[in-house]
Amino acid sequence: MSLVRKKFKQFIVEGGMRLYEQGLTVGTWGNLSIRDPETNLFYIKPSGMPYPEIRTDDIVVMNEKTEIIEGHRKPSIEFNFHIAIMNHREDVNSVIHYHPVYSSVFGVLYEDIPGIGEDFVQLVGDRVINCKYALPGTKALADNVVEGMADRNAVIIPNHGTVCVGGDFETTLKTIHVVEKTAQIYILAKSIGTPNLIDPVDIAAMQDFARNHYGQDK
Ligand SMILES: [Zn+2]
Repeated sequence: MSLVRKKFKQFIVEGGMRLYEQGLTVGTWGNLSIRDPETNLFYIKPSGMPYPEIRTDDIVVMNEKTEIIEGHRKPSIEFNFHIAIMNHREDVNSVIHYHPVYSSVFGVLYEDIPGIGEDFVQLVGDRVINCKYALPGTKALADNVVEGMADRNAVIIPNHGTVCVGGDFETTLKTIHVVEKTAQIYILAKSIGTPNLIDPVDIAAMQDFARNHYGQDK
């Protein structure tokens, strides 16, 4: 195994354990993948294995045509949408799919999570919508996820779970927490009153600031 491949496989093993320890997945559910931008190869969690039992040898390496390049395990059944998203989005190198509580409420009601906080609109998008339903593991679901996500960094799969993406694993993990926190705040706000949404003009201004001006001078 090359050193580069070993490093990316290790990212998946450790990333999976962090999802597991942070309560973002239960049992063998949820899955994650990372792209090596140098080789355009995808490193994906194996199917149906509990996170604490996964070792680097179990990680499956695939290419953009969803062919297995290396590995003796079957990849996560959702490899289709992981690879479809990254084929479609050059800015995405990390995809995490999980079955959370609060954002799944919106997937049961088929409602959007609206832009109600500045962290959410900067990191995720103006809102998170539900994609069209399709059965888990199908190519139809991959098409629906890519279409529903568009240029945002998260999408809800109705009656199923959520998909978050980012340029790297750390950003994607942050996005998961912001989506889940926003869903929780919105549910609480609705339970005692009428939530106030951010004006679309202000959302666009904050997104421009986050993209072009935030942080130390470049
Ligand atoms: Zn799932």
